[in-house]
Amino acid sequence: MSGAGFDTVAARIDGYRDEAIALERTLTAIPALSPKNGGKGELAKCRALEAYLRGFGLTDLRRIDAPDPGAEEGIRPNLIARIPGASSERTVWVMSHLDIVPEGDLKKWDSPPFEIRVEGDKIFGRGVEDNQQGIVASCLAARALLETGTRPAYDVALLFVADEETGSELGIQYLLKQDPKMFRPVDLVIVPDGGLPDGSMIEVAEKGIVWIKVTTLGKQCHGSTPERGINAHVAAAHTIVKLRSLYKKFGARDEVFDPPISTFEPTKKEANVPNVNTIPGEDVFYIDGRVLPQYDIAKVLRRVKTIGRQIDRKFGTTTTVETVQRDNAAPPTPVDAPVVASLRKAVERVYGVQAKPMGIGGGTVAAHIRRAGAPAAVWARMDETMHGPNEYALIPNLLGDAKVLAHVMLQA
Ligand SMILES: [Zn+2]
Repeated sequence: MSGAGFDTVAARIDGYRDEAIALERTLTAIPALSPKNGGKGELAKCRALEAYLRGFGLTDLRRIDAPDPGAEEGIRPNLIARIPGASSERTVWVMSHLDIVPEGDLKKWDSPPFEIRVEGDKIFGRGVEDNQQGIVASCLAARALLETGTRPAYDVALLFVADEETGSELGIQYLLKQDPKMFRPVDLVIVPDGGLPDGSMIEVAEKGIVWIKVTTLGKQCHGSTPERGINAHVAAAHTIVKLRSLYKKFGARDEVFDPPISTFEPTKKEANVPNVNTIPGEDVFYIDGRVLPQYDIAKVLRRVKTIGRQIDRKFGTTTTVETVQRDNAAPPTPVDAPVVASLRKAVERVYGVQAKPMGIGGGTVAAHIRRAGAPAAVWARMDETMHGPNEYALIPNLLGDAKVLAHVMLQA
């Protein structure tokens, strides 16, 4: 990349402050809620975005509509906007989502959630950060390239998906079902939907998730005559203590993650008997397990069942182990993948920050892309006010992230 090319593009982006606010205003005024969240979907918002893109000359647009009878016109729209690069060997993808979550308790908002309020460098409103920061930043990067006549090094594709907040079935999962090879292993995929306030986290990996329900059956009896029953609560307590051994059995460390280990924590506990003088014949508790990618979750489950059987032999109980949710970790994006290297270079240049590849506890949309064989990195510079009242985006981050994305698009 020629340094002059980036400087020209960056200077152009510096002039987009009003543009960024205006686009946030337009998008925020069209609440794109999934029918599952009581809305009509993303169609109106998607159309507004299409008009905006065409307005500055980005005309290679392709819509892929997923059917949803509950949505406006029965459609959940996904949109791809492409800019040709000097080479088509790779594509630099930026994927943001169109949908938002509900505003929640209106009384907790200081201003109406669907009319943006600008205060200093902050824009308040539902969706302004999640995920309109990504939408706006990627649009401004593309706009600056087109307006300065700067050709990206590789093809660029801005991808705007539906349905991220309610499972992605009609968003990225739908797209991958239509075209399992839409991302190539050589592509760079950036998902600007999470990050730290200083922009130093490039999320490249996530743990597998397993939520386990453990039911222990004993025999109920009067509290004064424990010998006539089997106290399920006591047996379950022993199970919980014994399950601490999972930390040792699956004890590998991977410093990319924070914490760097698999975790297995007992969490929810269902109520048993309502009164003090009954020995409970049934006990139900749950475990939230977050498992490093190197472990197969089936092995964790087998271990939990073995421990249940050991307890049953000792106490005469019947322990059953069920899976409430289970998701093996997606293959991690290598810490030296091109998308990571390019982001590090760009973040250092724009923000003067050393960004680090990191792993998190699980459940991001990037996992779908990683499973499809493409290296994806989640990155943005944000305070993560998403889903709460008074969600905001910082204007310097909207413009700075646009520069970071443009820098990546210009790197050869
Ligand atoms: Zn999001």
